[in-house]
Amino acid sequence: MTKTIWYEALEQFNKAAKVLKLDKSIVELLTNPKRIFQVSIPVRMDDGKMKVFQGFRVQFNDLRGPTKGGIRYHPGVSIDEVKALAFWMTWKNTVVDVPFGGGKGGVICNPKEMSDGELEKLSRGYIEAMHKFIGPEKDIPAPDVYTNPQVMAWMVDEYHRIEGHNVFGMITGKPLELGGSEGRAQATAQGGVYVLEEALKTLRIKKPTIAIQGFGNAGMTAAELAAKDGYKVVAVSDSKGGIYDPKGLDIKKAMDIKKKTKTVMNYKGAKKILNEELLELNVDVLIPAALESVITSKNANKIKAKIILELANGPASAEAREILFKKGQIAIPDILANSGGVAVSYFEWVQNNIGYSWSEKEVLEKLKIKMCDAFDSVYSVSKEFKVDFGTAAYIHAIRKMVKVLEWRGSLKKG
Ligand code: NAD
Repeated sequence: MTKTIWYEALEQFNKAAKVLKLDKSIVELLTNPKRIFQVSIPVRMDDGKMKVFQGFRVQFNDLRGPTKGGIRYHPGVSIDEVKALAFWMTWKNTVVDVPFGGGKGGVICNPKEMSDGELEKLSRGYIEAMHKFIGPEKDIPAPDVYTNPQVMAWMVDEYHRIEGHNVFGMITGKPLELGGSEGRAQATAQGGVYVLEEALKTLRIKKPTIAIQGFGNAGMTAAELAAKDGYKVVAVSDSKGGIYDPKGLDIKKAMDIKKKTKTVMNYKGAKKILNEELLELNVDVLIPAALESVITSKNANKIKAKIILELANGPASAEAREILFKKGQIAIPDILANSGGVAVSYFEWVQNNIGYSWSEKEVLEKLKIKMCDAFDSVYSVSKEFKVDFGTAAYIHAIRKMVKVLEWRGSLKKG
């Protein structure tokens, strides 16, 4: 039986809930979404015909602040997936300590087959259908798979049209010229690299070798930043396969080749490897930055990296993390490793709310503090309970959420 992404998300949460001996009613409260919206969005397509798209928004948990999470455009979007992603956002926002709850949205569509005009109508239609339920103090969307600053710009403009004035804080990941933040584009990878630096210090590894699966926004930027830090990136891959040079790849060259030919496989002078082989290379650091469920109980035993930095969402199962932990490896979970994106989204929202913008240097300094604090907290919980980093991240976040429930009067203090 294939495990659904919702099942995976619950499994990770339940493991931590068990360690904390969390009351059944609290588990129930924290694992059921507060609100789910499903809307129909009619779009007049370029051929003159009307097509009706299905859109979703899940506001999972708003106990710590307005719900926050991206909007995904993909043919495979389902309510089950959006619900799991909104659940994850709840815990990611808690781990990185931004004052947001968790939310997520999605539209079932194939953006690769749609013109810019059709995508604009769809994006405006989504806001028209949802505008009463979202906003800077209610629920703040952002980009996700196949949505980008242009989509955010159409959405903020549609909200402006409906409300009659600009409300930049209603969405993040906007272009700089329309209330976006410096540092947002590289935030996820940069946040991951800050966490990696902390983990390397902890393990006293000075000059790590790194393999990265996925050479898109997250993976490519991580490779560039790691190379800038003087680390040796020995392997990278994309959907066509991977390249490996134990002496270290020329990342600038790999980026040029990827941009020009759409794949790293045209890089000359490195060995061609399969994506599965990349995961099992003898390196210090492995960064899965592409797909879900690539590290499972089936291959966890073959993974040799001392640190696994989960830049993708859901690349490792709870079972796999446990196996790696027992072998002495550190798997830094997605809800910590890739939370830099939402941390800078938070800074964008703050800047919109106060009407002031920070320089890239200021944003990155703030990001570094958030990421290092989050790493240190998760590390100490992992030591306290003798559990893997994934379980520790959930324990840390659940404990914070329980405090909120106590203050709100839903739970007795103690
Ligand atoms: P992207 O589309 O820019 O890049 C994905 C990369 O993965 C591409 O290089 C693609 O070729 C590669 N890929 C696809 N199928 C593959 C396969 N079978 N084997 C190996 N590589 C394959 O996406 P992204 O924005 O870089 O996101 C990657 C992951 O990071 C996703 O899980 C995403 O949810 C997560 N993430 C990204 C951000 C962000 O800000 N970009 C934030 C949080 C989480």
